[in-house]
Amino acid sequence: ALDADWAERWVRRTAQAVADAKDELTELDRQIGDGDHGENLHRGFQAVVARLDDTAAQPAADEERTVGDVLKLVATTLMSTVGGASGPLYGTAYLRAAKVSGRSQIDPPAVVAVLEAALEGVASRGKATVGEKTMVDAWQAAVDAAEAAADDGGSEVDVLRAAAEAADTASTGTIPLVATKGRASYLGERSAGHEDPGARSTALVLGAAMAAAV
Ligand code: ADP
Ligand code: MG
Ligand code: MG
Repeated sequence: ALDADWAERWVRRTAQAVADAKDELTELDRQIGDGDHGENLHRGFQAVVARLDDTAAQPAADEERTVGDVLKLVATTLMSTVGGASGPLYGTAYLRAAKVSGRSQIDPPAVVAVLEAALEGVASRGKATVGEKTMVDAWQAAVDAAEAAADDGGSEVDVLRAAAEAADTASTGTIPLVATKGRASYLGERSAGHEDPGARSTALVLGAAMAAAV
């Protein structure tokens, strides 16, 4: 089972992955948006790491930390530090995920529930469905693949690997699509031929979740 220490490793790895990919994300957003997605997420996850490093902000050692405690810290930090569309979207995703993971350990079906909750958070906050060339495309593919892996009796790592691979494929799959939500939709047909930056960052987030579990 995965615990709060996994969640913390996940978040720290995400911060590193976002730092490494900052310029790539910004370049994707420059093509169909306003060129700030890398900077937005980097600012947010650096703030998250700073809060994790701030031991005074941590619960007392005798209190058992839950997975949800870590995800809630991510949610509130991203909401208060990331401007633009992606702050509230990721913030809502982590907040919903935190609400279904308020325990010390999560098994494969609970990992699926975390991903499902995140998807529902993004989709409801953004009023977006699959195929609109947004991060929803990557989250939806991840949830579908994670469910299938859990149904097959897969481990936590199997479930997260399936989710990460599906998100990566779905992100590439946004390239030919025409955006109908978010800033990229202002370009209409001209949004086709470019990968959605939020779908790419979602693939990074889920890749980090998998890497933190192995
Ligand atoms: P902004 O567009 O405000 O500059 P970012 O560049 O940080 O914000 O994030 C852009 C990403 O947010 C897009 O690539 C897309 O994946 C996602 N996004 C934007 N609007 C929506 C929406 N309504 N629903 C879901 N995702 C969205
Ligand atoms: Mg932007
Ligand atoms: Mg912006």
